[in-house]
Amino acid sequence: MARLTKVLNCICAICFLSVWLSGCSGLEQSEQEKLRRMNTKGEFIHRNHDESYYTLQTPPQKKRELYPWEEASSGAHAKITKEFFRCKGSSSNPPHADHKDPARPVNFFDCGGFQKHSLPLKGDREFVYPILIDLLNEVQAKTGGKVVITCGHRCPAHNAYADNSSYNQNSKHMIGAEVDFYVQGFESKPEEIIQILMRYYQENSLYQKEKAYTEFARLEAKDLNVSTQPWYNKEILIKLYKKTEGRDLDNRHPYPYISIQVRFDREQNEKVICNWQKAFNCYRRY
Ligand SMILES: [Zn+2]
Repeated sequence: MARLTKVLNCICAICFLSVWLSGCSGLEQSEQEKLRRMNTKGEFIHRNHDESYYTLQTPPQKKRELYPWEEASSGAHAKITKEFFRCKGSSSNPPHADHKDPARPVNFFDCGGFQKHSLPLKGDREFVYPILIDLLNEVQAKTGGKVVITCGHRCPAHNAYADNSSYNQNSKHMIGAEVDFYVQGFESKPEEIIQILMRYYQENSLYQKEKAYTEFARLEAKDLNVSTQPWYNKEILIKLYKKTEGRDLDNRHPYPYISIQVRFDREQNEKVICNWQKAFNCYRRY
């Protein structure tokens, strides 16, 4: 019993000591706070509303530069380039004979395709008249439809193989100055595409002051291979082939199609004329 009393006394002593010590610590802190307040000096900061150490510039808005793949599109589709104009001949096409004169049938052989020859050359570089590329990209941008080039460059061999009519002998396809195409979604509305082609000249600042480019006339000629009078200005001629017209080997689809020929080279300031010698010598064989 006496031992238990001793233990209890010890516990009470420890508790009393800890309460006394903590009381001392709280007292000391409040004294320090009193001293701090007595010694503290405050003063106001004065500044006028228009005073500043430096002015904040409003950052100018910068337009995001296009990624390479974004530049390579017109409308929702891949941008038309000269690559789209490569000859559609193929060495896998069988020869065919012309039986106009049964006694002397003429055999026509296709070329080896673009793997075997280049596009037409200008200097040392492959070349297609740029106005054709610009016009087709304009059509894609304005319609949102994909331009399907059925015939761009035709080397002389493929030109004869695809269409051996005398009318086609000096085709400008052979020098990269003609293109046949239709537009997906507008297959039955080629007239709308022709309107876009003509408006290109009226809306483009390059041509706005020259009537020879902005105004189109209708071609009146008897020996045409289309029933619709073509449209022309100084630079191009537009032909509309109906469903039953102009069906050659490159145009074996069921749609009407449009053909654009380049008439005048603005860069060289000369008429664009195709002859056999020019067509035969303008490209490289591999
Ligand atoms: Zn070819």
